[in-house]
Amino acid sequence: MAKRLHNKCKSCGYTWYPKGKNISTKCPRCYSTAVDITLLEKIKAIFSLLFFIFFIAIIFFSNTDTSNKKSETSNIDQSNQSKQTTETNQSEPAIEAGKTWTGDWGNGIVATMTTEPCDISDFTKLDYKYAMSVTIPIARLKKPTDAWHIDGDKATTMMGCWFRTSGLSIHAKMIRKNDGKVTEQNFRLDDGNWSSK
Ligand SMILES: [Zn+2]
Repeated sequence: MAKRLHNKCKSCGYTWYPKGKNISTKCPRCYSTAVDITLLEKIKAIFSLLFFIFFIAIIFFSNTDTSNKKSETSNIDQSNQSKQTTETNQSEPAIEAGKTWTGDWGNGIVATMTTEPCDISDFTKLDYKYAMSVTIPIARLKKPTDAWHIDGDKATTMMGCWFRTSGLSIHAKMIRKNDGKVTEQNFRLDDGNWSSK
């Protein structure tokens, strides 16, 4: 049985829980029609309304908060990228030909930055100069079509290109074979995470 609201008679002060309805039309003791719900029931109703508003407000503000953060980070990304493109310093010494940098990204994932020319035409158009690739151990390749190519026990899962922004700070753009996802990332080849040959 549903719990009914606590009723109170304004004439005689009698309180009761009515059956089958929330508010009785008449007081069961003095038959007065001056029947209302008790103050406690009103307070309960106000509190549940406040909780409801509070709950909706939390959902609303948490959503706007994350969307603000997202737009902030994408703005930062964009400004970084435009800076890098404009700040490419022509007077810096050229990068030695034939040099490679390898970075261990964990779980057998290895990134290699080369000084071979970038051979992805969409990227060379955007001033990406050099080629790069990312390999995983062939044992961890789910299916052959997830690799651009396979050399010995290494499968190349990402191919990309990079250009120098300043010193050995670089900006790379790569394409993952299995889903075609394009990612861009900044690296510093002299930050201790890369070994050079
Ligand atoms: Zn009464």
